Amino acid sequence: MSASAPRPLPAHAAMDQFTVADGQLLVGGMPLDRLAARAGSTPFYAYSRGLIRARVAELRAVLPASVQLHYAMKANPMPALVGFMASLVDGIDVASAGELKTALDAGAAPRAISFAGPGKRTAELRQAVAAGVLINLESFREVDELARIGAELCLPVRVAVRINPDFELKGSGMRMGGGPKQFGVDSEQVPALLAAISCAGLRFEGFHLFAGAQNLNAEAICAAQQQSYELALRLSAHAPSPLRVVNLGGGFGIPYFPGEERLNLCAIGENLQRLAARAAAEMPGAELVIELGRYLVGEAGIYVARVIERKVSRGQTYLIVDGGLHHHLSASGNFGQVIRKNYPVAIGNRMDAGSRELVSVVGPLCTPLDLLAERMLLPAAQAGDLFVIFQSGAYGASASPQGFLGHPQALELLL
Ligand SMILES: *Cc1c(COP(=O)(O)O)cnc(C)c1O
Repeated sequence: MSASAPRPLPAHAAMDQFTVADGQLLVGGMPLDRLAARAGSTPFYAYSRGLIRARVAELRAVLPASVQLHYAMKANPMPALVGFMASLVDGIDVASAGELKTALDAGAAPRAISFAGPGKRTAELRQAVAAGVLINLESFREVDELARIGAELCLPVRVAVRINPDFELKGSGMRMGGGPKQFGVDSEQVPALLAAISCAGLRFEGFHLFAGAQNLNAEAICAAQQQSYELALRLSAHAPSPLRVVNLGGGFGIPYFPGEERLNLCAIGENLQRLAARAAAEMPGAELVIELGRYLVGEAGIYVARVIERKVSRGQTYLIVDGGLHHHLSASGNFGQVIRKNYPVAIGNRMDAGSRELVSVVGPLCTPLDLLAERMLLPAAQAGDLFVIFQSGAYGASASPQGFLGHPQALELLL
């Protein structure tokens, strides 16, 4: 039998970027069974450079050329992937000294790295000043610490102010701005913080706002970007020097669950066109930045675990696989979800199977939380088959309790 031509996957919106040939899911052009052999063991994550490149190109096509695209590396800090991202985007956003090291090792230019996060420790601030990256200030304490560190190291200290805005991002999966928050400085306190920055002799470069994450509502994102812009413009009247950068955040979501659809990028692109035109007139010299994590890498990755055995308990069939929540906390529903829902999944070496059965897929951990798919219709699988979870390129390995219960860690492959 000759190999059939790869065909696209139907089913879930989230799977339409992948193709199938001879019953095997193709990842980076390679059939899944061969990829598993290449990996040497399961479970593993596999990320596709081709899909990430296509996603960045799609974004660049709708964004104004003057808007800078940053990668928020907490979404996926795999060193090889960060190196790849550094070659594709305009900057890397880090949230710890550990991430800073990875970004620098990956070859990101210090001028294009920004460092945000509450509770930056003295040692981390010192490392960031020595590296020459932009520090997004989130408290008055950080101003005092940085003044001391700058004097001690005899180096300029580049800062932006992370603003906790007076509005919230509607429709966001995770709110990170507005109301009382540990992130940033409340907008009403920003004028006093700007005065402190000026007195301390720090080099002020601009503002950073981040309203929330995992938003699939383009209108809500546009509204937040607009409000963020207005707030930055209003507060720029108190700035000690002209703005060089306004980071409007991101929050672009990806579809995980049935019924969810991809973001309407056109609306966001048009909104940013208008804001970029205003910025050119109202804050000359300032660059607009958006920072995206999961939108850039989330759909480009899968997680693969091997079926260890089938078990039938009182009429319900379980597939027990060699991976679980210790590698993929978000697919188990325990990473910020209020109600557990199934990620899109497949049996990656039986993509052409006709008949289906109702199964739950669980991992090897001794806890009922270790549930990867609950009562889904999947091709009848046997021990040795490869269970696949899509939409796994962000908040996977590094966002999971890999030490829990002493099982091996997941491999990560970049294709
Ligand atoms: C987490 C985070 C991001 C990335 O969020 P995504 O949902 O992955 O796009 C961006 N900026 C800041 C400040 C963050 O904390």
